[in-house]
Amino acid sequence: METYQVNENGYYGEFGGAYIPEILYRCVENLRENYRAILEDEDFQAEYQRLLRDYVGRPSPLYLARRLSAQYGCKIYLKREDLNHTGAHKINNALGQVLLARRMGKQRIIAETGAGQHGVATATACALMNMECVVYMGKTDVERQRANVEKMQMLGARVVPVTSGNMTLKDATNEAIRDWCCHPSDTYYVIGSTVGPHPYPDMVARLQSVISQEIKEQLQEHEGRDYPDYLIACVGGGSNAAGTIYHYLDDQRVQIVLAEAGGLGITSGKSAATIHLGKKGIIHGARTLVMQNEDGQIEEPYSISAGLDYPGIGPLHANLAAQHRAQILAINDDEALQAAFLLTRLEGIIPALESAHALGALPKLRFKPEEVVVLTVSGRGDKDMDTYLKVIKEYQPQ
Ligand SMILES: *Cc1c(COP(=O)(O)O)cnc(C)c1O
Repeated sequence: METYQVNENGYYGEFGGAYIPEILYRCVENLRENYRAILEDEDFQAEYQRLLRDYVGRPSPLYLARRLSAQYGCKIYLKREDLNHTGAHKINNALGQVLLARRMGKQRIIAETGAGQHGVATATACALMNMECVVYMGKTDVERQRANVEKMQMLGARVVPVTSGNMTLKDATNEAIRDWCCHPSDTYYVIGSTVGPHPYPDMVARLQSVISQEIKEQLQEHEGRDYPDYLIACVGGGSNAAGTIYHYLDDQRVQIVLAEAGGLGITSGKSAATIHLGKKGIIHGARTLVMQNEDGQIEEPYSISAGLDYPGIGPLHANLAAQHRAQILAINDDEALQAAFLLTRLEGIIPALESAHALGALPKLRFKPEEVVVLTVSGRGDKDMDTYLKVIKEYQPQ
């Protein structure tokens, strides 16, 4: 049977693989050989499931949004990852990987972060499990994401400002890889999305797949069938989307819609719509679509949302787009803002700017009244209040 899951060589179609420096070969190989056995181990699962329930607060609700549904003429359920501890889906992955690192005998955790959300989730997991934690963050991001830097420090992590390149996420990632190369034996690198060399994309997708596992059970309860007609999620690197679609990848009854960040528009030169604009290349250890110029230099992405401006995309998602299994929509800054204010007024939920891109896909789709849509609200909007307040006059209904 055709499958959209990873194959045994670490590829999704022609995307994926592990393009890594020689010095990391043994580390990544060791992880590849062990991750599935550890993730499937009974004791690991017992501890992970206990933490997801009692610490993260899972299952996250599947909420029938009645007023939003009326607006778009279908039945819209929101998968409320915004209600998790630390405010987004990222904690599902961070907890799983830090648990796994401990099982592999590692004492030191490193991570990269852009907006700081993955850094906070990793620092949280490290505080809980008493692990040393170093977070690489571009200096530009350190300055514009003060609150998250302070949270990480309070949680006991060391935040290292990175001053190379544009001093943003891709530079922080390069620096984390450099650290890993210097300490391959005692250090574990927690990657925050479905990106990086195999087995990371598959491992992160599996850790986030609790989202679609729950959707199946919750839909069965609400609708008497365990699948929706549409699944909608935003994509930065692709982890909340991967979790949302994981158990439905090979179920053709379900239409998959992925919302990437259009920025000021895909032809404006200020965009992060990697699937629309990217060309095949290698970034951070994987063959995927990459925003690059004619010389293969990575182009700096732009989005109003700090969590979506990554110049690559997970290889799983690149393949879903190439095979036309998923519909990819670029949602611009203004469309995401409009959608965020609409959700807030209709349902009393202030979404993260990233999640607002998924909501921005709704007016671009045509639904039938009986159709069931599940849309993942990947995070809450507290961190984005400064941005929302700056534009509130333009977007608030009178
Ligand atoms: C980081 C982040 C994203 C984007 O990351 P993915 O790996 O694509 O899910 C989306 N939403 C929120 C709230 C985030 O913090």
